Amino acid sequence: MDFEYGGFWRRFAAVIIDSIIITVFASIINAILISTFSRRTSPNAATGAALLLYFIFLISSWLYYTLLESSSKQATVGKMALGIIVTDLYGNRISFGRANGRYWSKILSALILFIGFIMAGFTEKKQALHDIIASCLVVKKDVVVKPKEEVYIKPAKAKFKQVTPPITIPTKKVTPATKVEGKQPRFIQKLVKENRTYEIYKGTDTESAKKFLITKRVDKKLYYIEVETPEGTWGMDIEGLYLVRLLPWQKNISLAKCDGYIIPMSHSNFGLNMAARGISDNFVVKIKCGKCEHEWLDGVRYKNVTAVRCPNCKTINKVDSGNITVLFTK
Ligand SMILES: [Zn+2]
Repeated sequence: MDFEYGGFWRRFAAVIIDSIIITVFASIINAILISTFSRRTSPNAATGAALLLYFIFLISSWLYYTLLESSSKQATVGKMALGIIVTDLYGNRISFGRANGRYWSKILSALILFIGFIMAGFTEKKQALHDIIASCLVVKKDVVVKPKEEVYIKPAKAKFKQVTPPITIPTKKVTPATKVEGKQPRFIQKLVKENRTYEIYKGTDTESAKKFLITKRVDKKLYYIEVETPEGTWGMDIEGLYLVRLLPWQKNISLAKCDGYIIPMSHSNFGLNMAARGISDNFVVKIKCGKCEHEWLDGVRYKNVTAVRCPNCKTINKVDSGNITVLFTK
């Protein structure tokens, strides 16, 4: 997984803004409380007022950070101003519980002469100590998918299986899906590499591999079911179906005999984002064959032209993904 991380100075600036906000807020509340409840001065009044201010400051700071960072904004006002958000290790919004874990771990970051905070400047993922403890990241505000032709619907947490294409391109006649000829993939082995687990299968062809994978459901992160076939390896993870990588001939569009096109559908934009960031060489879309109108799922390059073979009539289609855009906000 790869993100643009929020660096030390950006985070430092956000902390300054947040500290000003909390201090001003706590002082106002403190002033209101004192003017309401304190009618006469006693020898302990000054100490009492100082303690009260400190107490209000603690409560405001705690609620301010934990509530805002676990909110849908994923950021405090300072972070919003600096364009950074707090996420878990996969870029998701964090829960209130995790926000608390992160918040209270700051005590540790501070105890070691604030080195825990400074760590955000030099750790690989720009994590401060409290980020590491709570398994969080601070990243530049994530990609926004801007559908030029309303192709992609906002990222939903939908599982691939639940997806129904909301828009259909009007056609004369839709060819019924071809029967899958290949055999059911056969289990080969289970592999654990670092913290990732792979269930590896061998299949005869990509269509039966996809059909097999779609019946699988992965609800654990870092868990991958992959089917190796002579036509490429397909996989299923928590984000849905994916193609491990395109075959070399797919970049050679001179092989194409017709133009296929991408059918809009809504599911997780994860694959699209990975392709847009150059982490994977393709993202999965539904394609309609320009010759026989058969529809199937295949991987295409981001903002580029890809050669794909129709599983029905075997014609090589040229598919242009230039109208699907991911905008990275700064
Ligand atoms: Zn076809």
